[in-house]
Amino acid sequence: MSNELQIYIDGTFYPKSQAKISVYDHGLLYGDGVFEGIRAYNGVVFKLREHIQRLFDSAHAMMLQIPLSKELMAQAVTETLRKNNLRDAYIRLVVTRGVGDLGLDPRKCPKPSVIVIADLIKVHEADAKTKGITTTISWIRRDPVDATTHEIKSLNYLNSVMAKIEANISGVDEAICLDKNGSVCEGVGENLFVVKKGRIFTPPSSVGALPGITAISVVEAAHKLGYEVTETNITPYQLINADEVFFSGTAVEVVPIREVNKRQIADGVPGPVTKRIIAEFHKTTLDRKQGTPI
Ligand code: PMP
Repeated sequence: MSNELQIYIDGTFYPKSQAKISVYDHGLLYGDGVFEGIRAYNGVVFKLREHIQRLFDSAHAMMLQIPLSKELMAQAVTETLRKNNLRDAYIRLVVTRGVGDLGLDPRKCPKPSVIVIADLIKVHEADAKTKGITTTISWIRRDPVDATTHEIKSLNYLNSVMAKIEANISGVDEAICLDKNGSVCEGVGENLFVVKKGRIFTPPSSVGALPGITAISVVEAAHKLGYEVTETNITPYQLINADEVFFSGTAVEVVPIREVNKRQIADGVPGPVTKRIIAEFHKTTLDRKQGTPI
């Protein structure tokens, strides 16, 4: 057997170098599809049911009929991990609209495709959690909730890619996106939290951020630690003058932000609330009750 990663496509496993889909797949041609990023910790897929529910919710919004039940989808994920002998991994679950012709009408695609990749992911340097990361507020605004909203986890991530390019050319680690009204929305693949005077704030759903699964764990961790979390509009001024700022997301987990547009956040080091949330979140990821065993 080869040492290559084995990728699940529509019920069959292919070595990574041969795991391919058609150039006529509307996922490629139009970004027409949905996805999830999921993590496994120590042999348990963290919040698998929640991720699969969100995948189905995204698909429902796009009228994309997922060809597997939620149960079979969960099994496809755990089977892919077992096949690759992975106990700690980053899992990418993708459902594309499938093969059609060159017109964008989804009715041309009779059979959606399901792809499961289990691999590793590295977003920031190893010391990001202890030192914090630098950010810039991007001029690319998030799409409004009445358009291609980021509440849908679709394959159309150009908005995030453009914001990430801004971060890259500004020489910082990550971008922060505002909504159309100028309120703080989210990162390119992360939700955002602000700490001020011992209270935690996060943008409301009206800004059109993805409803993050890590964010729910952050709120639970915060409550456990005795902090209140309030959804409220956050202006760039409030962000810059916060006591602490951090991102949450499956890929980054919980990561402190130490700088926004060259303005240092407080004294420029991760604050006490963020550190406690990071520790509590880490504990949660190792709680076997929080996920589905491989
Ligand atoms: N916002 C966006 C745009 C994302 O892509 C992600 C990553 N899925 C998040 C927020 C964080 O969500 P989660 O905690 O569920 O990974």
